[in-house]
Amino acid sequence: MDGKEVTLAGFAHETRDLGGIAFLVLRDRKGLAQVTLVKKLLGKEVFKMARTISRESVVLVRGNVKAEPKAPRGYEILPSEIRVINAAQVPLPLDPTEKVECELDTRLDARFMDIRRPSVLAAFEIESSVLKSLRDYFYQKGVTEVFTPKIVAAATEGGTDLFPISYFEKEAFLNQSPQLYKQMLMGAGMDRVFEIGPIFRAEEHDTRRHLNEAISIDLEVSFADDKAVMELLEEAVVGAYRYVSENCRYQLEVLGLNLAVPKLPFRRITYTEALDLASEKVGVKMQWGDDLDTETERFLGESIGEHYFLTDWPSSIKPYYTLPYEDRPDVCRGFDLMHPRMELASGAQRVHGYDQLVGRIKEKGLDPDGFEFYLKAFRYGMPPHAGWGLGLSRLVMTMLNLENIRDAVLFPRDRRRLVP
Ligand code: ATP
Ligand code: MG
Repeated sequence: MDGKEVTLAGFAHETRDLGGIAFLVLRDRKGLAQVTLVKKLLGKEVFKMARTISRESVVLVRGNVKAEPKAPRGYEILPSEIRVINAAQVPLPLDPTEKVECELDTRLDARFMDIRRPSVLAAFEIESSVLKSLRDYFYQKGVTEVFTPKIVAAATEGGTDLFPISYFEKEAFLNQSPQLYKQMLMGAGMDRVFEIGPIFRAEEHDTRRHLNEAISIDLEVSFADDKAVMELLEEAVVGAYRYVSENCRYQLEVLGLNLAVPKLPFRRITYTEALDLASEKVGVKMQWGDDLDTETERFLGESIGEHYFLTDWPSSIKPYYTLPYEDRPDVCRGFDLMHPRMELASGAQRVHGYDQLVGRIKEKGLDPDGFEFYLKAFRYGMPPHAGWGLGLSRLVMTMLNLENIRDAVLFPRDRRRLVP
């Protein structure tokens, strides 16, 4: 565009004053543009005003593009007009130029300003691409997108980790998972559904991979078994990596990342094999039926070094809706998708027989009466089905090697944070 007239608007990233000449660097989400302020061209008054524009003000510039090897990306703008659309106050709550490091809490308190930092923004733009890739994949597989209620009367798993809310004269909760609803939609003949929406967990965890509100990508497929939906899951994940590596080059460059697309198929390891592997390591002593602790997960992740599936879990530690193997009911068709750093997804072939489901609910010490609205869908012809739930932020944080899940959520909700 050398020689062309342009109009740019953006944030005043920085100003540099060298006396008779000054630079104003404008920034938007696509990058920086150097505006070279020359007194002779602008006149004394405008030149004086432009030199003192406060950082992060929203500024409009009209001028001509000129090739200039010393400018960022090889071009500068020689302005004929400069207008401050909205001035920023001083001092700023944090430095959006990323020159100064800053505590996570300070960043989250002024999140709008934090997101002006190119590397912070890049993660959210990539997240949007991940969602697009997943949606495209589901549509291509003939899956219907649905929304199920987030205000519910009963717990999915009968647990205590629910947020109660006041709902007129009734007791209600924020839903911890769309599990029961997506299963009911199998009974509704919708055949294959997906939902991308919030899940709420009232757990008092304080980790880098848990929040109290998260976005879950849920899939449920009729006439599919656990093996079939594991294939859909690994294809969806690898597809997202591939899409990001091809379509988010600028954002990956900002993050300094060379994204490697994982290879298909992922390794499958049974829970029992995982226990054996872990017990080879001194200090990890686990009994069959124990949930894998963080230390074991870390050990497995380090020794495997790539995505893997953990399959064939003990029925005792998977939810009641997980289908046990017919010939060995203490083992079930549940699976977890693991990244070396953490769990990304859980799924299973589900129990579809009414009597068996009621039995499993009782075995877990729960009252089937509380699940009547759900059980009803199993009495009048329920297809066999399987599905999974994948944590969006965990997928993004592991893909981009972000340290904390809070870096992959715009406005995170945790034990201490409800604002902004
Ligand atoms: P974990 O064992 O890591 O606490 P979970 O087994 O309780 O997770 P599931 O109920 O299996 O979680 O939920 C499916 C997926 O949703 C998880 O694999 C994870 O990616 C995501 N997820 C669940 N809970 C949270 C949370 N509190 N914060 C962020 N993501 C979550
Ligand atoms: Mg899980």
